[in-house]
Amino acid sequence: MSAVLEFPVKQNEIISYNPATGLELGRVENTSEADVKTAFENGSKAFQAWRKTSFAERKKIVMKAREVILAELDEIARLISDESGKPIAEALSAEIVPVLDLMQYFARNAAKILKPEKINIGQLGLIGRSSKILYQPLGVVGIISPWNFPLAIPLGEVVMALMAGNTVILKPSELTPLVGLKIGEIFEKAGLSENVLRILTGDGRTGAALVDAGVNKIMFTGSVATGKRIAENAAKTLTPVVLELGGKDPMIIFGDADLEIAASAAVWGAFTNSGQACSSVERLYVEETIAEEFTAKVVEKTRRLTHGFGSEAATDVGSMISENQLKTVENHVADFEKSGAKILTGGKRKADSTGAFFEPTVISQAKNSMRGMREETFGPTLPIATFKTEQEAVELANDTDFGLTASVWTNDLAKGRRVAENILAGTVTVNEVLYTHGIGQTPWGGFKQSGYGRTHGKLGLLELVAPQHIHVNRFPLIPNVWWFGYSQNAIDTFKAMARHFSAGSLVQTMKLTPQMLKRLKELRKK
Ligand code: NAD
Repeated sequence: MSAVLEFPVKQNEIISYNPATGLELGRVENTSEADVKTAFENGSKAFQAWRKTSFAERKKIVMKAREVILAELDEIARLISDESGKPIAEALSAEIVPVLDLMQYFARNAAKILKPEKINIGQLGLIGRSSKILYQPLGVVGIISPWNFPLAIPLGEVVMALMAGNTVILKPSELTPLVGLKIGEIFEKAGLSENVLRILTGDGRTGAALVDAGVNKIMFTGSVATGKRIAENAAKTLTPVVLELGGKDPMIIFGDADLEIAASAAVWGAFTNSGQACSSVERLYVEETIAEEFTAKVVEKTRRLTHGFGSEAATDVGSMISENQLKTVENHVADFEKSGAKILTGGKRKADSTGAFFEPTVISQAKNSMRGMREETFGPTLPIATFKTEQEAVELANDTDFGLTASVWTNDLAKGRRVAENILAGTVTVNEVLYTHGIGQTPWGGFKQSGYGRTHGKLGLLELVAPQHIHVNRFPLIPNVWWFGYSQNAIDTFKAMARHFSAGSLVQTMKLTPQMLKRLKELRKK
């Protein structure tokens, strides 16, 4: 891919390219460590006022930001497509539509989800104590995001963090900084002050500086290697992190599934976003009895895909993000061939292309021992392996270091649920594939090397607050029986408490009354 460089690159500058054409789209600052520190200080100051805003005020800004997006729908979709290579159709369907839904959901429901919660403390409640949990905002939340969903991933987290009362610093991917800056612009137009949401463009060094800056939480989405580095750095300051990392997601097709639908799902699940989704189908296991028929359908549907510029309305599969990413795919495909798998269609870079185009590739006779079945490929490949029994399917699916999502296809829903519950992944879908990151109401996150913590849904919002327990004694007139003034009588009381009070039953607790009164009388004398 040849990049057209009209101006020399400055040291503190990052160039954004259109990966389909190799042409420059714009230049942004590679933010220095000192500027990250200043942004953090400003964000901390702004937090003092923002934390006091009501949910209604925050909702107003988020709903206004939705209107800004709707007013600039075409322009934003085009920018996403130009900077990432994905089809405009997918910029709309997989980024803008779901994030608009997420925005209205959290704008309308954050207050309800984060409402102070009374806790039933059992017998202690009967003697005047009460407990509740408040969900306090954390402070400044640092969001570090990847390039593959440059709008939906960071914007969703920005909205959740703001609704919870935090200020935010977002460091978008250096490959898609213009979409990152667009998020800032959208909120500026919605009336949000710059220090409540700050976008800092830059590469990994800017990200590392954000982790070091003292932010109150890091929400990271990206590769396993970077996630580990961030966890290590964050441990030095005990900065809490949520890690949303890579996947090697399996799709299991049983013989009783609707093969036509399952084949269309497999093709979309493997090749949407040019296969560059963390929950892309990266391994497909099909029941041996139907493998031939199913694979033929997959190949036929793959050959019908339109592969080209994302800017064209009828493009199904666009360019990949970069030459580097394409090389990983080439290496995995070469390794498949070398190890005895068969390339049924695709398998190479698109002829005469200007950018990072790799043909949608279907591979049969894949084995779990092959490199492309173990490492994340993150490109348009669909390796197919076969299985004989339900147990074997589960074992093959679980034979991986990753655990982000998985999908199971069968017309027997009881079997589908049973298999789903046996797969070690943060999300398992039955007769659905890939798309649940687009359901803002449900939790998103991985098992194993796919990361920890959650984003989206109630569990995701709870990552952005500090649960604070407030405990009150409304009758502080009597000393507690467990206070000083220990004696044989005290020990007898505690033994009786162990037997009766700790049983969690009112009837049992009542049996304690004489012993309690004896102990209180003793305490009054001390
Ligand atoms: P990446 O790890 O290379 O970069 C992600 C972000 O981290 C970028 O903004 C980058 O600048 C920043 N970064 C790099 N080094 C850093 C450091 N030392 N400290 C702090 N920040 C640093 O990932 P990528 O190539 O942008 O994204 C692709 C990966 O993301 C794939 O592995 C994919 O599976 C994963 N992903 C996961 C999810 C999910 O929700 N689990 C979603 C999308 C993508």
